[in-house]
Amino acid sequence: MLSTRFAPNILVTGTPGCGKTSTCELLQRRLKDANYYNISDFAQQHECYDGYDEARKSHIVDEDRLLDELEPLMRKGGAIVDWHVNDIFPERLIDLVVVLRTDNTVLYDRLKSRGYHEAKIQENIDAEIMGVVIQDAQDSYEKEIVVELQSDTADQMDENVDRIASWSAAWLEQNPK
Ligand code: ADP
Ligand code: MN
Repeated sequence: MLSTRFAPNILVTGTPGCGKTSTCELLQRRLKDANYYNISDFAQQHECYDGYDEARKSHIVDEDRLLDELEPLMRKGGAIVDWHVNDIFPERLIDLVVVLRTDNTVLYDRLKSRGYHEAKIQENIDAEIMGVVIQDAQDSYEKEIVVELQSDTADQMDENVDRIASWSAAWLEQNPK
């Protein structure tokens, strides 16, 4: 069945520091009428919080509330969603899941320069080594819509944006309005 969305909904996910936000900001400029949702900011703006995690020094996102706010906005399509968690979005809402991957030593340096403390850096490096995010994506969506892209260098980021933009153009051709 052809999609009723005017453009695909694209989820850009990956371990913190993999380049989601940088990639999405480039992508947003390439895709016509796309709406970019950085979920960390969105959750804050819409107060989708359910307490505070002292150990992690971060708010706990209320995922039900987040979905209630976001789903109506995603229904028309053209959403670029930036979050390290991917399995909360219902399959029917998502057309492509991009999982960014980064080499450990590269990721270490990025998280270090972000000012993360050692335990938080290690937690994220371990998650990246174990492939937690790609595993969640593969468990939650059809394998045809999950793509894994390496994001170690600026050239790779440009290539990734090109690939996603080409994929979006192909989707639009296959889903004429
Ligand atoms: P995320 O949103 O996944 O946490 P960011 O986009 O904020 O990641 O990227 C973290 C840092 O790493 C930023 O300083 C960004 O410029 C850099 N970075 C991200 N991806 C790449 C890449 N592919 N090549 C070079 N630098 C990158
Ligand atoms: Mn980010």
